[in-house]
Amino acid sequence: MKNKIDLHMHTTCSDGTFTPEELVEHAKKAGLEIIAVTDHDTLSHVSRIRAAAKPHDLQVISGVEVSASCPETPIHILGYFVDTKSDALNTLLEAVQKDRHERNQNILKKLNDLGVHVTEDDLDAYAGEEQVGRPHFAQMLLKKGYVNSIPEAFDRFLADGKPAYVNLVRFSPKEIIAAIHAAGGIASLAHPRQLRISNAEKKTQFIQKLVEDGLDAIEVYHSSHSQSDISFFSGLVERFNLLYTGGSDFHGDHKSHVELGKLPANHTLPLEMVDRLQAKASQWALEKS
Ligand code: AMP
Ligand code: ZN
Ligand code: FE
Ligand code: FE
Repeated sequence: MKNKIDLHMHTTCSDGTFTPEELVEHAKKAGLEIIAVTDHDTLSHVSRIRAAAKPHDLQVISGVEVSASCPETPIHILGYFVDTKSDALNTLLEAVQKDRHERNQNILKKLNDLGVHVTEDDLDAYAGEEQVGRPHFAQMLLKKGYVNSIPEAFDRFLADGKPAYVNLVRFSPKEIIAAIHAAGGIASLAHPRQLRISNAEKKTQFIQKLVEDGLDAIEVYHSSHSQSDISFFSGLVERFNLLYTGGSDFHGDHKSHVELGKLPANHTLPLEMVDRLQAKASQWALEKS
């Protein structure tokens, strides 16, 4: 059976290489029936995705992926069913966007100091329409011949701890989860495999703290997850009485090995998952009104 639901993907509104309109066409071709686009730190894709999906039989859930700040590890929090007009959520996202802009200037400065001669115009040529992030820098370094691959761009320059790395000032998970709830949405921990916490016990404690902060779900099914990741995080979903989400994290050419709609071991997501997420979101929406 083919998977018909994908709740994690990106467009040119952040660091994907497909425009919202192209992504909708691609989703239809991939046989998807329900999608959520989760661009980083913005909601500007949502209206374009909805407009593009209108002529098609394609259900669109509003989504966003917000970068959070933790002392332990970088984390990403997904918001679903959010009201795109929410003041609380938009105020938080605008603050992150402003920080992103300043950070990009600082990354350019660091690259110049390292003898990598790139300008803001160069970056603009490889950036999407907004929310410029490190994948755009990587693409630029590749195209300008400073590196031979995207991973090399991260390994030599852009990854945490490398010479052109600049930290992004971000909000705490608690603040982000609260803003998602204020927007009538549910919060899911994105790709937990990528948490930089090595041991299972510490990972469990970290997630327990997020649950205390209001986390609703964990992205158990992600294209980067192994079968043992899926088992481990499913176990935590049960233990903490959470919901689960799933998605490919499709970025187009920035992550060309990831296919839209494709999950590990050809897993398929059930409609019931979406229904449960929506029911929980309705509770948050009721609470705020
Ligand atoms: P940013 O939000 O600008 O900090 O960029 C984060 C994005 O960069 C992530 O969502 C990944 O898609 C990508 N990324 C981070 N680290 C790496 C890496 N080591 N190799 C390739 N892509 C990476
Ligand atoms: Zn991304
Ligand atoms: Fe992410
Ligand atoms: Fe993502």
